[in-house]
Amino acid sequence: MKTVCSLQKMRDLSREVRRSGRTLGFVPTMGALHEGHLSLVRQSVAACDFTVVSIFVNPAQFGENEDLAVYPEDLENDRQKLLSAGADILFLPAAADIYPPGFKTHVSVSGITGQLCGKSRPGFFRGVTTVVLKLFHLVEPDTAFFGEKDRQQLEVVKTLVRDLNLDVTIASGPIVREADGLAMSSRNRYLSATERASALCLSQALSAARKRVDAGEGSADNLRREMRGIIEMEKFAEVDYISVCDPRSFEELEEVGREALIALAVKIGGTRLIDNCIVGRK
Ligand code: AMP
Repeated sequence: MKTVCSLQKMRDLSREVRRSGRTLGFVPTMGALHEGHLSLVRQSVAACDFTVVSIFVNPAQFGENEDLAVYPEDLENDRQKLLSAGADILFLPAAADIYPPGFKTHVSVSGITGQLCGKSRPGFFRGVTTVVLKLFHLVEPDTAFFGEKDRQQLEVVKTLVRDLNLDVTIASGPIVREADGLAMSSRNRYLSATERASALCLSQALSAARKRVDAGEGSADNLRREMRGIIEMEKFAEVDYISVCDPRSFEELEEVGREALIALAVKIGGTRLIDNCIVGRK
């Protein structure tokens, strides 16, 4: 596995791969890698001839009071994990190269970025779509892999690709969880032992809601209320949002029909965690 920092080198290598007739898979990440990331890397390795994984902690998607300065970094372990998963290139661009002085251009997707994480984190999706578009131009992948853990991001990226006629297929992978149900996240590293125990309330609230829907509950308000009750029992938990919404428009629902997205963002101590699942009435 090669590590590439230069943007031009990355472009040259990906063009070489494509010229040789091989397919190129791409997994963008912010590092501090865990099984959730690695499941996407393995998916790419299985589906494509050549896999590029980027690690770039994108300043443009962090708000002023967020965790950019302390975002976990674990480069040597990340490298080992990527090597074992079969990645071909680790792309490690520098922030000063991605956003050189005088940088003035951003892209944003409208309509589906004003809800959920877009509402709590103004500017977040603009930062994501800008960097994803730049990375796509540099890597020129045939297929790019994104996790369902960030379901709104996945939908926003699909919309970006469709609306700007980008020549890349977006593939997705299911949420990878710890044995007790906590969705894997680089930010789980911030949790103390007591916070780690409290953090289980997210997946527990989702499981409870799913059970209620399976038992015939259709009222979105009842589901929101039940989930809030479970989360608010936890000492360290503070609800950012509890949503029962349409999985494509992210508009809040009154009734759960054949398909609904249940999505949560909860602060555990100082750490903001998200989780989601799709439910539906038969
Ligand atoms: P991040 O490093 O948090 O920006 O995540 C990089 C990619 O990994 C994104 O497409 C995420 O959706 C995906 N991802 C993060 N956590 C998980 C998880 N627990 N299961 C599946 N995919 C994940």
